[in-house]
This record gives sequence, structure tokens and C-alpha cells, in this order.
Amino acid sequence: MAETTSDLVEITGIRARGFHGVFAEERRDGQDFVVDIAVDADLAAAGSSDDLADTVNYAHLAALAVARIEGESFDLIERLASVIAEDVLADDGGRLLVDAVTVTVHKPQAPVGVAFGDVTVRVRRERPAVPVVIALGTNLGDRYSTLSFAELELAERVCAGPVVVSDYVETDPVGGPDQPDYLNAVAVGLTRLSPTTVLSRLHAIEAAAGRVRDVRWGPRTLDLDLVQYGDPDTGTDIVSDAERLTLPHPRAHERAFVLLPWLDADPAAALRVGGAVHPVDELLGGLDTSGVRAAEEPDAGAAGGVCGAGGCAGC
Ligand code: ATP
Ligand code: MG
Ligand code: MG
Repeated sequence: MAETTSDLVEITGIRARGFHGVFAEERRDGQDFVVDIAVDADLAAAGSSDDLADTVNYAHLAALAVARIEGESFDLIERLASVIAEDVLADDGGRLLVDAVTVTVHKPQAPVGVAFGDVTVRVRRERPAVPVVIALGTNLGDRYSTLSFAELELAERVCAGPVVVSDYVETDPVGGPDQPDYLNAVAVGLTRLSPTTVLSRLHAIEAAAGRVRDVRWGPRTLDLDLVQYGDPDTGTDIVSDAERLTLPHPRAHERAFVLLPWLDADPAAALRVGGAVHPVDELLGGLDTSGVRAAEEPDAGAAGGVCGAGGCAGC
């Protein structure tokens, strides 16, 4: 099961005046509350891009904390800490990178009745497990072994719980230069990682499979695309038009080599296209599927052993 990342960003000492507490004078006079926020996030992209858009927006997090300190009064700082944590998980300013958050609320002027240093409450909240759909493709090297490897890596590094992988399909290349046929599949599972961390893990798995990015839409040992994050049927899917992570994947709805195996893995699949949510079988009805065929099962000996691969009957 995938662990969250160990990268951390912290902002401490966010101070504002609020009216939280159980005593009438606390509700009437108010006092200072101080908040620290620590965010678990995968900072690999920011570490290489040096781009502000790839990391935590501290100002946004601080504004969320101040809004809650100054907002509706709560009896308990436990509640204040919880709502700030939930706010951060729900909206990190469009960065989509918070895997988990720890919020500490200090109440240094609490009416304790004796001299004291500080009172603090600390809560940690992780993302709930949400559905995730990943498209797999390969057209270089030992394609069956590569997809088998990718399945295992997805289960280990991205998903929480079981992963359902479609049967493999053999696909004519679409776009790009002249290149060999693809082997494609779709994996459906749950994840507790943020969308950005999922993408980062997909890139790491691609790299481990020898992926080199040179020619756009050129041949590759492994392509892993994040088709959808969350559930469009309940409106919990993430929509993003950022170039580094567009959700849902902007071309998935027009690709039979994605929709056919997806439907195999999840017959009730649905995809948001523009503003509307469509059943995947309906979208597929409007596409030419002639370039997508059931994959021949590989010769077990020739493939070098692909136990666990979808469609593997030889081991
Ligand atoms: P296509 O996206 O048309 O399938 P591709 O998979 O060949 O093309 P890549 O070279 O794998 O393209 O990725 C190019 C960039 O697309 C990546 O650097 C990645 O940041 C970005 N990207 C944006 N949205 C997504 C997404 N939903 N899934 C995967 N990559 C994405
Ligand atoms: Mg792709
Ligand atoms: Mg890709």
C-alpha cells in the first residue's frame, strides 16, 4: 500500500484574534490564536523545476487559517484545528499536492487560572481514499513484462487496496511518428495520495521502466496517464486545467484504446467531458474502435515470465 511522501512544508506562527472558547468572556473579548501548518507533499517536481506553481502556496494556507480563527466561534481548539486541516485538504490553492496535513493550534492566553507557557492541540488528517483511473501504454521492449511490472508498481506505490487491471489490448498507434503497435490497459483502484503525488509516482514508475521523453507522442517503454481522480458521479472528481496536470486527462474521452479497456476494468465507468458526466460505454459508442484488438497472450517462455499480467495464461 502506498505510503505518503516524507517531504514536508511548514508554516508556523500564523496569528490572529478569535472568539473561541467555552467561557462568556472569551466569546466577548476574544484572544490571540496561533496556528502552525505542516503539509506532507511530494516536492520532487518543485525541486527540479524551481517553479512556484509546483510547491505549496504558503500565503493561501495562512489565509485559510486566519479565516477560520476570525470566523465562526468554536468551543474547542480541537474543532478549530480540525476545520483548518479539512480546509487545507479540500483546497490548497489549486496545487493539488497535499497528501496529509498536521495543524497545531496554540492558545497562549487561555484562561487556565495559573501561570503557564502555552496550550496546544495538534491534529493530523490524511486524504480519504478516492477512485483513480490510470491508462497504461507501451510499444518498446518486452511490452508484457513492462505492463506486468507497472501493475505491481501501481499496487505498491500509488494505490490503497486492490487494483483492477483490464485485459491488455493491442492498439494501432494514434498520432506521432511511425512506430510499433501499443499494448494498452487501464488500471482502476483507490488512492490516498494527492493528484500531484500520484503523477509524480507515475513518472517515477515510467522512469524505472526506462521511459525517455524525447519525441512527443513517440515510442515509449511505458506511458502512465492519470485519466481521472475522484468520482464524477458524486462530483468528487478533481478538475484541473494546469498544463503539468490536466484532469480529467484531456484526450481520454476520444481514445478507444483508453475507453475500451477502462470499460473492461469497470463496466460502470463514467468520465467528465467539459461540464457533463458521461457513461464511458456511451462515449465509446461514438468512437472508431477498429484500431483496438484483444491482445494475443504472450508465449510464457519468450516473455521471460509474466506471472500476474492481465491475460497471462502461460505461467
Ligand atoms: P498524452 O498526454 O497525449 O497521452 P503523452 O502521454 O505521450 O501524451 P507525456 O510525455 O507522457 O505525454 O506527458 C507530457 C506531460 O503531460 C507530462 O509532463 C505531464 O506533466 C503532463 N500531464 C498533464 N496532465 C496529465 C495527466 N492527466 N496524466 C499524465 N500526464 C499529464
Ligand atoms: Mg499518454
Ligand atoms: Mg503520458
